Amino acid sequence: MSDPRKDDRPATHTVTGTCHCKAVEFEVDLIDGFENIRRCNCSLCSRKGAVMAGVTLERLRVTRGADVLTLYQWNTKIAKHWFCSVCGIYTHHQRRSAPDEYGFNLACIEGVDITAIGEIGRSNGAAQSLVEA
Ligand SMILES: [Zn+2]
Repeated sequence: MSDPRKDDRPATHTVTGTCHCKAVEFEVDLIDGFENIRRCNCSLCSRKGAVMAGVTLERLRVTRGADVLTLYQWNTKIAKHWFCSVCGIYTHHQRRSAPDEYGFNLACIEGVDITAIGEIGRSNGAAQSLVEA
């Protein structure tokens, strides 16, 4: 598989993702390929540079290494950003703008080549209100 949008597998299927050191593994149930593929320009995401896709909470499960995931929260502390405490790779986060959804790191998904994805949308996270310290 190269471009995840030109995927000939069944419409509903499960894909597996891992962090770099593979201590963390997660599964995502896809209904019609990857949805809402985007980068975000908020101060956190712009530093990570990850290409993300979105799913509702019940469609993403951490299947290994939940104990090595580290939770990072900032500003309003609504969003939950998870990363592997061993290799440092961002795996997924619970969204602030849509708390019933996870965003996840598309590059963690087995077989996905993010350089083969055409146009990538942009989430305007930088426009979300921030709380003064
Ligand atoms: Zn890791």
